[in-house]
Amino acid sequence: MQFDSVVIGAGLSGLAVARALSRKGETLALLEARDRAGGRILSRSVSADGGARYDLGPAWIWPHNSRILELVAELGLPLMRQYSAGKLVFQDQNGSVRRDLDFSTMGEALRVEGGLSRITDGLAHALPKGVLHLAHVVKTIETSGTGVRLRGTNGDGAFTVDADRAILALPPRLSARRIVFSPALSEPFHRSLSSVPTWMAGHAKLVAVYGRAYWREAGYSGDAISHLGPLFEVHDASPDPDASGGAALFGFVAPDRAGAECDEARLIEDATRQLSALFGPILGAPTRVLLENWASDPFTSTEVDRPDLSGHPRYRNLTFADDPWSGRVFFAGTETAPENGGFLEGALEAAERF
Ligand SMILES: Cc1cc2nc3c(=O)[nH]c(=O)nc-3n(C[C@H](O)[C@H](O)[C@H](O)COP(=O)(O)OP(=O)(O)OC[C@H]3O[C@@H](n4cnc5c(N)ncnc54)[C@H](O)[C@@H]3O)c2cc1C
Repeated sequence: MQFDSVVIGAGLSGLAVARALSRKGETLALLEARDRAGGRILSRSVSADGGARYDLGPAWIWPHNSRILELVAELGLPLMRQYSAGKLVFQDQNGSVRRDLDFSTMGEALRVEGGLSRITDGLAHALPKGVLHLAHVVKTIETSGTGVRLRGTNGDGAFTVDADRAILALPPRLSARRIVFSPALSEPFHRSLSSVPTWMAGHAKLVAVYGRAYWREAGYSGDAISHLGPLFEVHDASPDPDASGGAALFGFVAPDRAGAECDEARLIEDATRQLSALFGPILGAPTRVLLENWASDPFTSTEVDRPDLSGHPRYRNLTFADDPWSGRVFFAGTETAPENGGFLEGALEAAERF
């Protein structure tokens, strides 16, 4: 089939691009490698029959994130404040714990009740029928006439899509390292794409679910900072404000414990032991633990995403200046947003180009 545009990647940015283009009346295909939309946004339930969903990717929206707040309002989703009442716990590199710290690190942050996937689910469901193609992994982009031809694999074997232009709504590093361009990209441009760090790609996130929010009852917010690990930062992850639909903590796992060679069973064991050292023995017995190892996921991370980033990278828009790609291939995705790159807000900022 021949489309006006083909969008690669149904994360927040690709979904927002697809929405904008379909509102303009363009014909388009949105190709997504995974069997779900959302990309790094992932809210997962602990039970097969649904119920509370916990954020295993991003969780926070900040009050200055006007684009995402507008989208949340448009979709009619309820927001709540990150739970932050109570003391913060600090663990030093030797394991010593302080529990008298009276501040919170994320008190300003907002969350979507029931999980951020409600945003990407809402966008995906509102697309015209037949636009979103899940489990379609794009492998090559070649020039074809005045447009592009994409080839890849899906459940049925191979697919081909022709379009006037392609919009790459995936991390630039994945475009450079996982997609073959024919003719090849110039060496400097390939290098510059490949050097853009994918935000949080080297991490894993763990959610521990409990029968009750014991930490709240004991006067802790659920915030913890640890120089020992494996969780270096912990927060309340309950899916509603009073934790009535579920009580949970989440922790970020540093890149040195995540990755393809991560022993997940061992990591879960060490993390639950750490939670019990931080907040009390009862935290050593979660009812369920969910782990998402982004560092080993080929649709987010590459082998060069392992080193931790020392600060937030400076992102910029990327454009193909040279023939033959100029005018045929464009970039979206949060890692191309100059103001809010890396964040959810950046995914929408980048999508505004279309
Ligand atoms: C653990 C974690 C915590 C975070 N916390 C926050 C937070 O609290 N607040 C915040 O603002 N941001 C946070 N972020 C960042 C936020 O998740 C991203 O900014 C945002 O989700 C990026 O959206 P995107 O659409 O640009 O990219 P992605 O979500 O990465 O979407 C890219 C899509 O492209 C698809 N794809 C990849 N390769 C191919 C291929 N070859 N063919 C077809 N499709 C392909 C992928 O499957 C994916 O769906 C966090 C990220 C992580 C991992």
